[in-house]
Amino acid sequence: MRILLVEDEPELASALRTALKRHDMVCDHAASLLEAADYADAESYDAILLDRQLPDGDGLTLVPRLRARGNATPVMVLTARGDTADKVDGLDMGADDYLAKPFAFEELLARLRALLRRPAAIQAQVIRAGELVLDLGHREVSVRGEAMSLPRRELLVLEALMKRTGRMVQRASLMEAVFGLDDEIQSNALDTHVSRLRRKLADAACGVEINGVRGVGYLLREIA
Ligand code: CA
Repeated sequence: MRILLVEDEPELASALRTALKRHDMVCDHAASLLEAADYADAESYDAILLDRQLPDGDGLTLVPRLRARGNATPVMVLTARGDTADKVDGLDMGADDYLAKPFAFEELLARLRALLRRPAAIQAQVIRAGELVLDLGHREVSVRGEAMSLPRRELLVLEALMKRTGRMVQRASLMEAVFGLDDEIQSNALDTHVSRLRRKLADAACGVEINGVRGVGYLLREIA
């Protein structure tokens, strides 16, 4: 699950990023409207958490801009302006949900889950390949109904590969999906995660395997 967090207050941004990561989400962070627009154009996110009062303007203006470009990523507005008129404004401008600061992280998480369950996002909720089922909402992998426990990075690798089963996923997009844009990355870390995951999939005999092309990327394919 990949989230764009748009928040200019460093302490809150850092706390949210840490909390989101703990819940298996990859989080990119933008501290201004301009930065947010750049990220949103360049990357694809499962949801955007959007502060309103940003140094270069009202965060809400990002929403119609995204929609005009055909970007339907669910947006949750996070703001100190919690009165009814502001909520109506936000929803009218195409935001999907509105959460007033201060909020409990558990509520944010619950609303985020609800947001991702909506019709626009629902198709991507469960992905299958071979006998492998990945439930994106609950962050669970199972094989023939039995849960398979995977560490966070391996789960993110699997998610990126399963979203494009049968197709080569470029190394660069895997790095982004697994580490985010600004995490520190060791050069061979991706390969280590992939090889562990590959071994687990083989052990589980779940009808899929991971093939790699050195230096290019990896693909997950179903085997007969
Ligand atoms: Ca702010």
